[in-house]
Amino acid sequence: MPEPELMEQVVNLCKRRGFVFPSAEIYGGFRSTYDYGPLGILMLRNVKEAWWRAMVQCRDDVVGLDAAILSAPRIWEASGHLANFTDPLVDCRKCNERFREDQLEDPTTCPNCAAKDSFTEARQFNLMFKTFVGPVEDDANVAYLRPETAQGMFVNFANVLNTSRKKPPFGIAQMGKSFRNEITPGNFVFRTREFEQMEMEFFVPPAEGAQWFEYWCDARMRWYTDLGMPADKLRLRHHDAEELSHYSAGTADVEFMYPWGWGELEGIANRTDFDLKAHAAASGEKLEYFDQASGERYVPYVIEPAAGATRTMMAFLIAAYTEDEVGGEARTVLRLHHRLAPFKAAVLPLSKKDTLTPTAREVLSLLQPHWMVDYDETQSIGRRYRRQDEIGTPFCITVDFETLEDRAVTIRDRDSLDQVRVPIDALVDELRTRLSG
Ligand code: ATP
Repeated sequence: MPEPELMEQVVNLCKRRGFVFPSAEIYGGFRSTYDYGPLGILMLRNVKEAWWRAMVQCRDDVVGLDAAILSAPRIWEASGHLANFTDPLVDCRKCNERFREDQLEDPTTCPNCAAKDSFTEARQFNLMFKTFVGPVEDDANVAYLRPETAQGMFVNFANVLNTSRKKPPFGIAQMGKSFRNEITPGNFVFRTREFEQMEMEFFVPPAEGAQWFEYWCDARMRWYTDLGMPADKLRLRHHDAEELSHYSAGTADVEFMYPWGWGELEGIANRTDFDLKAHAAASGEKLEYFDQASGERYVPYVIEPAAGATRTMMAFLIAAYTEDEVGGEARTVLRLHHRLAPFKAAVLPLSKKDTLTPTAREVLSLLQPHWMVDYDETQSIGRRYRRQDEIGTPFCITVDFETLEDRAVTIRDRDSLDQVRVPIDALVDELRTRLSG
């Protein structure tokens, strides 16, 4: 499929099937904000759950955190965001459109109205959303909506160290909303002003920084391919010396082949001891580790894998979108890994006859405590299969008239289209086996 068409199909599918809606649509939409619908919220939760499973649950050296979104100006002063978290903003004097100067293909020509040399001088525009806490809107009451989750981990470093009995190398992981007043949001949910991040700060002895950076680059690439992302749509791009932030001893981006070209999915950086030292200096608190065994005191280096949950969900949708043919008929299939699919199974009585409904509902109730399961009894079975294929449901469970005799149902596999008959009593075990891994 031509690539611009692919993006259009994915956006259409998201709207039509309830993954992602433009926000405030009944009022004409609201500036590149989006709402996650019944299927989108399931998939977004699955993306975050898969990340949490890999980063926290399956390890003994990473713990979780959920820090406040409304945050103190002193955090952002110390982190450097107040001074430096800016993008260069230019206006076209002819059409008044605004652009990020560093994203212009041709800095002499307006991409909107084609005017030549119409741009104003670039102004540094701070991307943080500012608000006021309490009723008085003055400088003493300023707060910021966090533009990243990372700082929550740095300012809680000592709290976590003292309460979790962890010692370097160990990490703190957090998922949640971040806000950036992006100059040019766009490409659907690739760049929005409100989005979700999944970030982990991994604190290590300074001498081990380079080695852990490599480790996390490998581990993070593997996370995407383990969840079914085709390896040829993914690459790790190391920043060269000019692109590196001043505090970074190494940065690499996990990039995905979006329909418009390669772009960032996740950034992995060796942030050295920059953040802990900055917060220690600004707060006067000691943010360091004392190793009793060696008698050594040091400020750990930090390796940070920082991913976007909403951007990642979109990348998985793009990678999974397929059109093929079954029995001469076109079908759309989301070939999502079962961990990411909104529903793991759908229970479909062969016809909407009263005789089948009680057994079909019984099967539904049997599965619901274990997984998100859809139930659909309207229209022909072929159309219902296609509806489930289109939203990526790995297994359809069909209840037919024979079920009433033999207490068995048919499991249909989304990808191979194989159908096997399984006793209702064995269904949970059978699905558990198929949905493991
Ligand atoms: P970009 O260069 O695309 O602006 P960034 O390098 O500033 O991104 P980071 O600060 O490293 O991004 O944030 C980590 C991750 O958070 C990104 O890789 C991306 O997945 C996600 N992210 C950042 N900004 C946005 C946004 N405006 N909308 C959606 N996701 C975002």
